[in-house]
Amino acid sequence: MARTVHIIGAGLAGLAAAVKLARTPAKVVVHEATAYPGGRCRSYFDRAIGMTIDNGNHLVLSGNHAVQEFAAAIGNADALVGPATADFPFIDLASGERWTLRINDGLPWWIFDKARRVPGTAAFDYLKVARLLRVADDARLGDVLDCSGALYDRLLRPVLLAALNIDPPQGAAVLASAVMRETLALGGKACRPLIARDGLSHAFIEPALKHLKGQGAEVRLEHELRAIAFDGGRASRLDFGADQIELKADDAVIVAVPTHAAAALVPGLTTPQGYRSIANAHFKIDAPPHVPPIQGLINATTDWIFAFEGRLSVTISSADRLMDVPRAELAETIWNEVARATGIAASLPPWQIVRERRATFAATPAENLKRPGARTQWENLFLAGDWTATGLPATLEGAARSGHRAAELANEPIKRAA
Ligand SMILES: Cc1cc2nc3c(=O)[nH]c(=O)nc-3n(C[C@H](O)[C@H](O)[C@H](O)COP(=O)(O)OP(=O)(O)OC[C@H]3O[C@@H](n4cnc5c(N)ncnc54)[C@H](O)[C@@H]3O)c2cc1C
Repeated sequence: MARTVHIIGAGLAGLAAAVKLARTPAKVVVHEATAYPGGRCRSYFDRAIGMTIDNGNHLVLSGNHAVQEFAAAIGNADALVGPATADFPFIDLASGERWTLRINDGLPWWIFDKARRVPGTAAFDYLKVARLLRVADDARLGDVLDCSGALYDRLLRPVLLAALNIDPPQGAAVLASAVMRETLALGGKACRPLIARDGLSHAFIEPALKHLKGQGAEVRLEHELRAIAFDGGRASRLDFGADQIELKADDAVIVAVPTHAAAALVPGLTTPQGYRSIANAHFKIDAPPHVPPIQGLINATTDWIFAFEGRLSVTISSADRLMDVPRAELAETIWNEVARATGIAASLPPWQIVRERRATFAATPAENLKRPGARTQWENLFLAGDWTATGLPATLEGAARSGHRAAELANEPIKRAA
């Protein structure tokens, strides 16, 4: 009888692992605690604005290859859409200045072109970013880079704030370095902004479930793992309450749950326990055609505006300061900024504010150093999730890579037997 790999958690990490393993002879069973697969990467119907929205606006860059590999594997290679070139329109709300950053493909000559680079910067400023190429594991970005000036305020801050979800000077320099190496350093081809136009569930979750079903994998919803029993260096039993699963000698388990849940399930595991929040605002309004799909704001509460069909949505990263602001007050503040940035004269449209307190682990050097690898001390138990040691901040790309890595390790016994 085929061995079984049990995957705990149907977020992107768990689903990426499941999709990889579904190609092998192993039987794959995904166990998800809630009734909704996708974890932090999913859509839901929001009554306040009467539309389906994502639990958070998600931006992916074209250099995020594991996310795209996952999309292709589930038969939805076109899941994400975006402009053909890496163009980022910005507005500085303090000065009213507007510009578009245009990162060319190939060698970075855009930094020598005033019409493409950040206004107020010189080509020489960009060379300073090379300091990020070699940084210590315990360094904060603020220890390595001068976090002031036009290049920082108008490019590095918005990019790194979005990627790390932490005020960049406090962030782990190694994570900032990884983001830079995989995006800006590779030129426009790696920096095209991509979004799930019709929602994250439509792009990733529904096709993944359909694909897994077609491959004979099982996804059990409302099946929360309560505890794992261990015996002689192996995980031996999965405790789902009324349902107990005894693991056979060559069965394996991938724990792909959030950091706090993993620490509760796996004895002795050290994981990041600090978080940063993200706030999203959604406004039900048809954007005029001149409004770009993605726009960055400087000197504003709002970080980014995304134009979807019939809706403008806003992302504010590292938003802990906004968690207790009254919702209506926050909606007014953000809408005023959106109206100025887009030139829309309308008063506040129907709106929704979504604040996710535990959006990502806090990407400080100290928390980053707590991230465990995919292997555990138990030979048949592996870890996945955006909080594991992927070398990247907590992102869809990190989650997908962690799932792929855990799948590779869980597949090793089969390779040995082959
Ligand atoms: C508001 C917001 C905005 C974001 N924006 C971006 C962005 O723009 N770009 C980007 O790349 N990333 C973004 N992210 C981060 C991205 O969503 C996450 O990195 C990614 O979805 C994490 O996937 P995961 O599978 O590691 O974890 P999760 O999505 O948290 O999945 C874990 C799953 O495990 C389940 N689970 C928990 N405990 C148990 C149990 N005991 N038994 C069974 N199942 C269990 C959970 O219910 C959940 O479904 C954003 C996140 C948020 C919250």
